[in-house]
Amino acid sequence: MNYFPLFCDLHRKTVLLVGGGDVAERKARLLLKAGADLRVCATVFSSPFYEWQQAGKLTLLEKRFAPELIDDCWLVVAATNDREVNQQISACAEARRVFCNLVDAPELASAIMPSVVERSPLLVAISSAGAAPVMARLLREKIEALLPQHLGKITAWAGVLRPRVKAAFKQPAQRRRFWEKLFQHDRLAQTLANGDEDRAQQLTETLFSEPLATRGEVVLVGAGPGDAGLLTLKGLQQIQQADVVVYDRLVSDEVMELVRRDAERIFVGKRAGFHCVPQAAINQILLEQAKQGKRVVRLKGGDPFIFGRGAEELEALAGSGVPFSVVPGITAASGCSAYSGIPLTHRDYAQSVRLVTGHVQKEGALDWQNLAAEKQTLVFYMGLSQATEIQRQLMAHGMSGEMPVALVENGTSTRQRVFSGSLDRLAMLAEQAQSPSLIIVGRVVALRDRLRWF
Ligand code: SAH
Repeated sequence: MNYFPLFCDLHRKTVLLVGGGDVAERKARLLLKAGADLRVCATVFSSPFYEWQQAGKLTLLEKRFAPELIDDCWLVVAATNDREVNQQISACAEARRVFCNLVDAPELASAIMPSVVERSPLLVAISSAGAAPVMARLLREKIEALLPQHLGKITAWAGVLRPRVKAAFKQPAQRRRFWEKLFQHDRLAQTLANGDEDRAQQLTETLFSEPLATRGEVVLVGAGPGDAGLLTLKGLQQIQQADVVVYDRLVSDEVMELVRRDAERIFVGKRAGFHCVPQAAINQILLEQAKQGKRVVRLKGGDPFIFGRGAEELEALAGSGVPFSVVPGITAASGCSAYSGIPLTHRDYAQSVRLVTGHVQKEGALDWQNLAAEKQTLVFYMGLSQATEIQRQLMAHGMSGEMPVALVENGTSTRQRVFSGSLDRLAMLAEQAQSPSLIIVGRVVALRDRLRWF
């Protein structure tokens, strides 16, 4: 972090602006808006400065810059068209420990003015630390388009309600829920935007009188296979609103970065040298947390209903009265397929795709005869340690040893590796790969030669 973002109150605080041209004019406009007690020092001023002075908004000092002008200032803005003068001002400010903003030399500035999207009292400030002002501006335009004009009104409304909400709800989690309800209310913001304060007051009173959901809940969320960009929008909303997130090893760090910062995180996966938390204990954690009234997100790699034991966790909740819901995720088969350039179906090579558990040891567990049939794609989850058995059974049931196969390790992440070859070499390929890996078997694998892109 090159600069510390800080919003400061400039009301009635003396600020020295050096320069009287166009650039200085833009800075003056902003500083006046912030209520600063503005002194502008220059030998020549553009006409708005005289108008502002006449309106009593600022003081003009018609003279050259002198270091002592800084003495009682909180902030200095050097906006002359002379680089050397700007640098001299900056050095004087530095010596007096006053923050200085420089128009033409961001590397010398101890304070920078960000690009701002204003929905007062809501402010979004964007800075590229002077590295790419145009990028900051483009971003500002995007955010500008994204934020409705009336956002400021409901923000101000919330500001007024704050003490009352604090008194009405003792628990921070309750307060958060109240605010979420208020900001997501489908009419309140619009009513305020229309200026109908009486109606807004009624709607607000209803919000206060409605009981807040005190029951906890569990949301089973699919985190996708790794790349955080593959998380769904709904999944993102859920992890941003969670009180507790219960997750395991398959959830990528990148996705965990997106979890609400204050949420409690409970890891229930396997760590090197330790066993994973038993399923019954996980079920218990979910139940207990939800019963404390918390919004619990159970975050799972891929899709929670595909080899994720998500169903078992919900079954355990089903009788308890704790409400639950499910947000699907991109399963490893989809993610690995896309990022390895191996389509799962193809008009010429595969009319169906089968997602198969790699836990194949139990005799008779899988219908190998069917799996060895042509014109389909097999995707084995958890199959790495069983690759020898998968190879043996498929070949024993008539699949050609030349059938193309691929192992996709850490699919969709920047560490993705793909090992491809033929079925008769599957066991050998598996020796090189690490968990988590997916095994794809079928003619579609050969398309990777032309379709790989990642
Ligand atoms: N619910 C998950 C699957 C959990 S089973 C999903 O829908 O994807 C765990 C297995 O999924 C692993 O053994 C591995 O075979 C596969 N897997 C999960 N993430 C993977 C990834 N990023 N790359 C390759 N395989 C993955």
